[in-house]
Amino acid sequence: MLTLATDTPQFYNEICEMIRAFEDVDNIILTDRNADMTVMERVENGVLSARASFRGEQGVFCEPFAPQDKPGDKRARKHAVKLAVYDVMKRVTHKRLPWGALTGIRPTKFLRELSGNAAVLEKKYDLPPEKSALLARIDRVQEPFLTIPENEIDVYIDIPFCRTRCSYCSFSTTDSTKGEALMRPYVTALMREADGCVSLLRDMERSVRCLYIGGGTPTALTEGLFEEMLTGITARFAPAREYTVEAGRPDTITEAKLRMMKSCGVDRISINPQSMQEETLLRVGRSHTPDEIRACFLLARQIGFETINADLIAGLPGETPKMFADSLEKVMALIPENITVHTLALKRGSRMAEAGVREHNAREVGQMVDFARETLTRAGYQPYYLYRQKYMTGNFENIGYALPGHEGVYNIDIMEETCDILALGAGGTSKRVYPTGGRIERAFNVKGIAEYASRAEEAVLRKRALFLS
Ligand code: SF4
Repeated sequence: MLTLATDTPQFYNEICEMIRAFEDVDNIILTDRNADMTVMERVENGVLSARASFRGEQGVFCEPFAPQDKPGDKRARKHAVKLAVYDVMKRVTHKRLPWGALTGIRPTKFLRELSGNAAVLEKKYDLPPEKSALLARIDRVQEPFLTIPENEIDVYIDIPFCRTRCSYCSFSTTDSTKGEALMRPYVTALMREADGCVSLLRDMERSVRCLYIGGGTPTALTEGLFEEMLTGITARFAPAREYTVEAGRPDTITEAKLRMMKSCGVDRISINPQSMQEETLLRVGRSHTPDEIRACFLLARQIGFETINADLIAGLPGETPKMFADSLEKVMALIPENITVHTLALKRGSRMAEAGVREHNAREVGQMVDFARETLTRAGYQPYYLYRQKYMTGNFENIGYALPGHEGVYNIDIMEETCDILALGAGGTSKRVYPTGGRIERAFNVKGIAEYASRAEEAVLRKRALFLS
């Protein structure tokens, strides 16, 4: 437990996030006297300053301040407070975080806001040069995809069912083994929402740029329902520049489902091992084996899929850097066009977090992430999108790697927030990206599958209000 006194309680979450990036602290309690840490912020004579004191050390941030408008001024003040806390935590712990003081989810977007000025990131945010070089490299790969024609929009479909629940999962998914009776009303409602969205697209005079079916595990639907969903979505929204299905887990993929995807024009699929260690897969509750992954890849290749993504996670419980390296080698032997390397993030709601499981050794996770980057780039894969999450082991990142020409456009669109998104299904978040000022507005679908099934029309109305206002 740690007590905190601050004159900026509105930035409590950001202060806590920064403290926890350095130290594992359960409870951070606000108090007004005898606190372990104090954080103060002020604007005086055109100077914005923030100070943080902790265990006899002082962290300071200070810079000229010219507030342009209210939201801008709040953002600058929040940054000042975070940087002062970063400074004091670094002095106290003698640690330097892999991403310095950068805590945002989208560092590439941040670099672009600074007009590609990596020197500012290195100086102001203490970003290590290798990370700013990585961001600059990703920015170069993304460049051809960042200008979105005005009449294009991405469409995302959420299928929130999985066969078993992975122990690190914090998503809202429902057990597909409970049968069709549970999933059918969902698919029926999805088609009603899809009909409403087709009219909306017509009214907006927009065409579909990327069509992405994710989840959950879309292939967790029974073959009959999967066909109904896939042909229904294809008839309403295809063709698109890119058509992806996150097939995901091999225990849900059948030859018939692969053939359906192929005949519907799906050109990207995921077959996600997460690990190629049998005992790890058992430990984290994934009901498939490394052999099933291999068999699934082989089948997908025979059927003609030319872009397959494979996800791996660094930092799974019980895994050593050697085991991770072995998994990476085994996945690379399958020659996926995309490999996405995630770092384990234990969020609230996951079984592991609820059971009080602690993070993996950050130094070892760092070795895994570095090994993946070096090995994959040596093999010709390029990092093409990157994002970070809260609660991520060791404050690292998730990176999507692609062989040239196989970059997933939807992944870039969603991470860089460059394209409007129409999101269908329970929990879907549609986004309208305004052309200037970084303004983004959102419309949310209800989360529960039963609630969604009875309120699909309302989801369409919300999207109409978002995009036609
Ligand atoms: S496959 Fe993905 S969505 Fe499904 S339980 Fe595992 S982590 Fe969660």
